[in-house]
Amino acid sequence: MRCPYCGGSETQVKDSRPSEDAAAIRRRRVCPDCAGRFTTFERVQLRELVVLKRSGKRVPFDRDKLQRSIDVALRKRPVEPERIERLVSGITRQLESGGEAEIQSEAIGELVMEGLKGLDDVAYVRFASVYKNFREAKDFEDLLGTLGEASPLPPEEAAGPPGRRPARARP
Ligand SMILES: [Zn+2]
Repeated sequence: MRCPYCGGSETQVKDSRPSEDAAAIRRRRVCPDCAGRFTTFERVQLRELVVLKRSGKRVPFDRDKLQRSIDVALRKRPVEPERIERLVSGITRQLESGGEAEIQSEAIGELVMEGLKGLDDVAYVRFASVYKNFREAKDFEDLLGTLGEASPLPPEEAAGPPGRRPARARP
């Protein structure tokens, strides 16, 4: 496994144990060249999945891409990495165990929103605002309405076009 920091190819496994839900092996690795530390996961891949995008393009399903978009939504949120890992695994397993060879990108988005809803309201709004690509300020207001007043989106996180930010967001 190549070191993500310096590109060195001789990284060593320091620790190896099952992830919390035992669906993966988690390995702590260290690079002898730069002393960088990182984690890798070994998992079962049940099927090769193809994602059908809105543009009509087909791309191979990429678990890392899914993980990254969830990570972005959860940036600086107080959610343990293990829970995020479980969400990504759960979504991936759901997709793999469905009968479809092709999965619409919308279906993945819905699963992510569903998962984030149970994990962190702010991350949910962040993801939903990007995913739904809000054209109408009203849609955004409706979404915030479903979450109640307890979880306003910080203004700098609002993904809508300029001038369309929700008036209710905390200063
Ligand atoms: Zn290195």
